[in-house]
Amino acid sequence: NLSDRLGTVFDRLRGRGSLSEQDVRDAMREVRIALLEADVALPVVRRFIDAVTEKAIGSEVLKSVTPGQQVVKIVSDELTEMLGGDEPAELNFAAKPPVVIMMVGLQGSGKTTTTAKLGKLIKEKHGKKAIMASLDVNRPAAQEQLKVLGEQVQVATLPIVPGQQPVDIARRAMESAKLQAADVLLLDTAGRLHVDEALMAEMKAIANVSAPTEVLLVVDSLTGQDAVNVAQSFTGEVPLTGVVLTRMDGDARGGAALSMRYVTGKPIKFAGTGEKLDAIEAFDPGRVAGRILGMGDVVSLVEKAAATIKQDEAEALAKKMAQGKFDLDDLRMQLRQMQQMGGLGMLAGMMPGMKKAKAAMAASGMDDRVLLHMDAIIGSMTPKERKRPELMNAKRKKRVAAGSGTQVQDVNKVLKMHQEMARAMKQIKKMGGLKGLGALFG
Ligand code: GDP
Ligand code: MG
Repeated sequence: NLSDRLGTVFDRLRGRGSLSEQDVRDAMREVRIALLEADVALPVVRRFIDAVTEKAIGSEVLKSVTPGQQVVKIVSDELTEMLGGDEPAELNFAAKPPVVIMMVGLQGSGKTTTTAKLGKLIKEKHGKKAIMASLDVNRPAAQEQLKVLGEQVQVATLPIVPGQQPVDIARRAMESAKLQAADVLLLDTAGRLHVDEALMAEMKAIANVSAPTEVLLVVDSLTGQDAVNVAQSFTGEVPLTGVVLTRMDGDARGGAALSMRYVTGKPIKFAGTGEKLDAIEAFDPGRVAGRILGMGDVVSLVEKAAATIKQDEAEALAKKMAQGKFDLDDLRMQLRQMQQMGGLGMLAGMMPGMKKAKAAMAASGMDDRVLLHMDAIIGSMTPKERKRPELMNAKRKKRVAAGSGTQVQDVNKVLKMHQEMARAMKQIKKMGGLKGLGALFG
């Protein structure tokens, strides 16, 4: 996948003490292929490679003491830029209420789920009164689906009137929202399996009667180039204001995200990260760029930790991460937090090294109990060994395995995992990627 491939290229770059122009060009050729294979649109790739090459070759970078790292930093910055840069992509509520937010996209892309997620977010985070209406008369139970989700998030839905057509439902929803003095009206529309004229005509008609402030295109990030084609088809046909990428919890790692901005000219505003109704995040270009570069989503991880664990523990952890210091006691603390945060499945892919570790565990028939084993393994080490894992020779490993009721190979796994995490954290530190982290904890 994209991040594995880029990871390999960048590991090679980082490791070098000096770089020639040709080294950069060679690396960029590989990056180019990796991006194209990850379904990033050709013009986007071209622009990206040109920008990075120019910055890397045309400056003092190659003469610096850490050229490889600087090139990686340039790539990371450029990816961030491509994903929307630093400007916050927030919902626009600047209109006479009810502010209409219209959701569009293909069938199954996640419109209805996202509508309910946004309803919840608008109520809880923005403190606004929202009402939701489904205009999907194509699928039999579509309106019912939104009603059920509305009950779950406790956001009102427009009562269902059987037989009514989408434009009429939109009108009725506007009236109802006004009568109830709602701040926001969310319109969930019907999709199709493919983009066709009937769909576009329906979307235009709905937009005409509801004058939406936001028209959010919902696309499934797992569909890669198809998602980009869909975005292309909607652009210009309906007045899009932003994009929501769903299933960012999957393995896609942002290939589609990279083209979205370029193709639609609109910001990606949210990422859907699961089926649960709170699984939505404001889209953060820097974080997604990091994920694409395979550094693991350490910032997300720390935020999640902060929400679950005690503030002072999180601060200590963040500080260590920021300094690139990370010993086995820290790993143990993280393992405990993982258990609190919902176990391995939740964290795989977020944390450097975890994905491989988890796959290895699954292969050997282990599950979340593995966290307990790892905890026991670290618990069987002396404080000195925990501070200095390099002390762990064969004899010590044997002792620890016996003490924790595990095998030497399990001890090795823990040490390996620690190594990978510590390495990733050092890299992040070098790249200055923890800017946000300091701010997070003051
Ligand atoms: P619609 O046809 O566009 O309205 O799509 P739905 O909202 O009905 O979603 C289709 C399926 O995708 C449902 O099973 C959702 O639970 C699932 N889904 C939606 N968003 C996400 C997401 O961000 N992550 C994951 N894993 N599943 C999602
Ligand atoms: Mg739907």
